[in-house]
Amino acid sequence: MSNRQITIIANWKANLPPSEEVALAKEIAEGVGGVLPAAGLPSTLRLLLAPSALGLVPVASLLRREYPKAGIAVAAQDASLNSAGAFTGEIPADHFVGIAPAVIVGHSERRRDHGESDEVLGGKLARVVAAGLAPVLCLGDDLPKVEIAARVTYVQAQCSAAFAAAERAGCSAAQLYAAGLVIAYEPVWAIGTGNPASVEIAEAIASGLRNALDREELPVLYGGSVDAASAATWFGTRSVRTGLDGLLVGGASLSADRFVAIVRAALAVAEPT
Ligand code: PEP
Repeated sequence: MSNRQITIIANWKANLPPSEEVALAKEIAEGVGGVLPAAGLPSTLRLLLAPSALGLVPVASLLRREYPKAGIAVAAQDASLNSAGAFTGEIPADHFVGIAPAVIVGHSERRRDHGESDEVLGGKLARVVAAGLAPVLCLGDDLPKVEIAARVTYVQAQCSAAFAAAERAGCSAAQLYAAGLVIAYEPVWAIGTGNPASVEIAEAIASGLRNALDREELPVLYGGSVDAASAATWFGTRSVRTGLDGLLVGGASLSADRFVAIVRAALAVAEPT
């Protein structure tokens, strides 16, 4: 048995306008409410919805006001490299305080479409931590056909580059951990392709990162074409858990039914508290 917390994050990207994000959050909160034990969300399970920047405030207030028992919080999909100031269109990390307890940093779409380098990601990690928020650092290889060991080496290097850049920005590994850092292993070839990685690959990455960082308790999530039908395989069973600590879900989180089924699979494994 393991008391390790399971985290499930819904990444809605820029798929929906805020009014539809609120409607989806409502459907999810009601669905989750229907599968939770009477005591509500156990502390061994954490649920986060990451709407667009415009949806964060209305979704967060809906969840707090109308569905406190479901215990669902919001996460930001990104934060600015800059602090408050003359940065048109940017959202500094500390503006999320009181709204979103966690911020996703380094999603492969940010790296690919916005050219976010390790240096930029390190700076963002430092801003998120300085704001008192928990970073969710996305890492992932674009190597669909290599041996697992090569994949592990690649992701370890990606992680160490982000940590080194965070350190140059004034944020040590110890500060990242204290802020509640979560890693999401999201292989680029698995995102939105219907072709998820195997549990074996994701577990090898998770243990490779824990070994490289010498941090056994590092939470590592998996993301990439997760769906309701396969959700349970990522968690294992209550007595024999996999080496993963949860899921970052894209496409399947846009359907309340599919997302709630993933939450139900997690609840079957999370220790009651
Ligand atoms: C993602 O983009 O973070 C993701 C995991 O997407 P999907 O689940 O659709 O593959």
